[in-house]
Amino acid sequence: MAKWERRDITVRTNATGHELTSPVFVARGRKDRPLAYVQANVHGGELQGNAAILALFEILEREPLCGTVVLVPRVNPVSANQQVGDYVAGVYDFLTGNNFNRGYLYLTGPSRSASAACYVDVDSFATAHQSSPVGEIRDDFRESLKAALDAIERETLTWGADTRLEFALAIQKLSVEADLVLDLHTGDRAPRYLYTPEGATAAARAFGFPFVLEVPARFGGALDEASFVPWQDLSDAFGRLGRTDVPRLVDGFTVELGSMNSFSLEAGREDARRIASALRHYGVLDGEPELPPAPITACSIGHYRSLQAPVGGLVDLAVEPGTAVRAGDVVVRLVDPSRCRRLPPAPGDAVVEVRAPEDGVVLLFHAFSSVPKGARLFSMMTKTRSL
Ligand SMILES: [Zn+2]
Repeated sequence: MAKWERRDITVRTNATGHELTSPVFVARGRKDRPLAYVQANVHGGELQGNAAILALFEILEREPLCGTVVLVPRVNPVSANQQVGDYVAGVYDFLTGNNFNRGYLYLTGPSRSASAACYVDVDSFATAHQSSPVGEIRDDFRESLKAALDAIERETLTWGADTRLEFALAIQKLSVEADLVLDLHTGDRAPRYLYTPEGATAAARAFGFPFVLEVPARFGGALDEASFVPWQDLSDAFGRLGRTDVPRLVDGFTVELGSMNSFSLEAGREDARRIASALRHYGVLDGEPELPPAPITACSIGHYRSLQAPVGGLVDLAVEPGTAVRAGDVVVRLVDPSRCRRLPPAPGDAVVEVRAPEDGVVLLFHAFSSVPKGARLFSMMTKTRSL
């Protein structure tokens, strides 16, 4: 039986002094580690991860829990309440225009502080730990990352924190403890797919989602990168010293659970089952991961390409999200009745067909059916392979 705790963290305080909080649920098993951190809904319109977390509550009560799981549904009340009419505009912060999933701190990257070039210098750390056992490296490096967060927070006591830093600190103080970080999102109009660190093939198979985008260890501000890139940097630093037995010791994934604004408790049970399989792969839950239920198609993030709308119009999908296409296949028809200049009007004159530039899988469509020229109309996986 897991031992449960709940607390709430403040992620923003608004002008009328009201604290916006997120609930943090901790399930402790027989041991503290491995520790998994799972959050949902950092983008306010991407709802389905909350259903997955509710279903995980039940799984963690039912199955033997070896390590610890920290679950934060509705992690971003700021974003969830950015409602314009019926629509939740949840990707960008109304206050700053920044994407809520691009503001995390790169703890082995260039420092914001004048006192040091990097928050944690992986080369100095590796040199100082050249002959340490891997377990000690893991513990000491995590302490260094935590010390960097503490130092950043201390500076805010004097100079204050902008809203982006306040949010990053609140989240990363939790996620830095984790061996495995899962950030539950959705696509715009999309099937289920996964962003995985390069090389995490066995884990991706344990999740068993049908599509996988492989992410190199480059930091762009997202939580999955903030979680795994410092540990890849550490592994690389040991590699430069000729030590090849220090793998990347933390993984981070962005898990895309279908389309934005969709929410289903029933689908959440299957999503939680997939996540539980990954938790077994990492030893957080006892038992073996499941085999993938269907073949998995993967590509490198560099081969995941977006097509910008060549003209404005209304979007008529010729294929469903998640469909394999050949170069030249029609993917979308962009329709604008004002293009009918001949009389009597010919409906075909309203239509501009948009074709796949390459073979691949059309993974994601723009969420809305009226787009300007230049909008991301669809994104497709190219140069795909089976995982
Ligand atoms: Zn998202």
